[in-house]
Amino acid sequence: MNMPHPEPTQNDDPEGIYRDDRRLDHAEGASRPLRSQPEKQPRGAKARGNRPIDQAEAAARFMAAPRHAKMHDERLWDLRQKRDREMHGILEWEELRALASAIKEHTLTHLDEYLEQFEANARANGIHVHWARDAAEHNRIVHGILADHGAKSLIKSKSMLTEECRFRDYMASVGIEVIETDLGERIQQLDHEDPSHIVVPAVHKTRTDVAEVFAKTIGTDPGNSDVHYLAESEREANRPLILAADAGMTGGNFVVAETGGFVVCTNEGNADLSANVPKLHIASIGIEKIIPRLEHLAVFVRLLSRSALGSPITQYTSHFRGPRAGGEMHVVLVDNGRSERLGMAEFWTSLKCIRCGACMNTCPVYRRSGGLSYGATYSGPIGLIIDPTFNARKYSSLPFASTLNGSCTNVCPVKINIHEQIYAWRRELVKQHEVPFAKKAAMKAAGELLSRPAAYRAAVGAAEGALAHLPRFVVYNALNAWGKHRENPHPVEQTFHDWYQANRGGNDE
Ligand code: SF4
Repeated sequence: MNMPHPEPTQNDDPEGIYRDDRRLDHAEGASRPLRSQPEKQPRGAKARGNRPIDQAEAAARFMAAPRHAKMHDERLWDLRQKRDREMHGILEWEELRALASAIKEHTLTHLDEYLEQFEANARANGIHVHWARDAAEHNRIVHGILADHGAKSLIKSKSMLTEECRFRDYMASVGIEVIETDLGERIQQLDHEDPSHIVVPAVHKTRTDVAEVFAKTIGTDPGNSDVHYLAESEREANRPLILAADAGMTGGNFVVAETGGFVVCTNEGNADLSANVPKLHIASIGIEKIIPRLEHLAVFVRLLSRSALGSPITQYTSHFRGPRAGGEMHVVLVDNGRSERLGMAEFWTSLKCIRCGACMNTCPVYRRSGGLSYGATYSGPIGLIIDPTFNARKYSSLPFASTLNGSCTNVCPVKINIHEQIYAWRRELVKQHEVPFAKKAAMKAAGELLSRPAAYRAAVGAAEGALAHLPRFVVYNALNAWGKHRENPHPVEQTFHDWYQANRGGNDE
């Protein structure tokens, strides 16, 4: 017998709105908005030295915060849909992708020549060019330049390369203040947190989270999470720091060998502040960012913002080709593992990446688990194939955080075969003995089973029967982290194989 639910009373639900002791529905003209319950922002993966990152544990914490998880999923899916609309507006989209991929592959296979050409042309333009083998050398070079100018503060636009180099930490250790000029990156800096996305660094935060960060750091009203108020307050707080800075730093989206110049794409104009307010401009750029000629730039500029945010172009596409009058410009070309990756037969094409983030926006695992759950500089599908090149042990769990559905590969504007490289990393990690014993044994057993059709069908039959009767702990236990977040399907009455035999009578062996 169904028991009717008792009517809630005001004592049961203090958030409710009541008239004549009856709780009003939200749609019944209740003028008071539903008060939102504060939900603490879930934090990222816990780093434990060189031990493998437990991405599943951090993802579980993210999913346990339903407001954040829903907001994150919806925001990124919205970007994916906008990207699709832009893509459909360009008839030659697939030709552009093929061209971008070919230009990048050609450049990467002639990298030494184009880098030397860039260096010669940049020097001729009056730019000081430096080469950094790794993160430590990069940080020392930049520190040296700043020390030569007596600089004590640096304004900086967003750059994933400087995240790779843990640049802000290094600058703090030598007493130089770094101020991020990108709003999202500044939020993350003030919150002592890494960016969670390569294009939208604070995308995992709700505006209430941002209000809390600003209230603690720049003294805003903690109860006011209006986005205009927050953005304006941050601008007011940051502008004096920007105007007083001794030096500016940018990254570079594209470096043009034939001109000796480089291009920075932003939506806030923040790179232009970093480059143009102080007289000293330092650009830190990964060596894979080079393209041969200026005419190639058009291909990438058309693809980048459409893929990233679903907008036709970034608000600012700034070209730098030399120091301005009375100023000084330095370019630091950074390797930091890229040459080594270029020599990896299965992974070198990951260097084609133009950091648009489209693979992250489409990835069902990334959207639901948040970028900080990866515990690495690069998250999402591109992170799964780049991070293990830096440290195979620490990031050994990441290539398993994928369904291999291939959506990342489909949206990648430079046609990187991302899901195939993720799969290749799994094989590589097994070879390097970086996969836990239980996972290895399970994969071995699955491999044996899948290679024997008769045994496989017998097992499927048994599993279908068992699914209905097994106690839950057999599937939902501590050894199966991903099992906690999804239900098993209901057992089917007829498998596809049985249906095929009954209806087509074919022999599929
Ligand atoms: S791998 Fe492709 S889709 Fe992902 S960030 Fe790089 S260029 Fe964009």
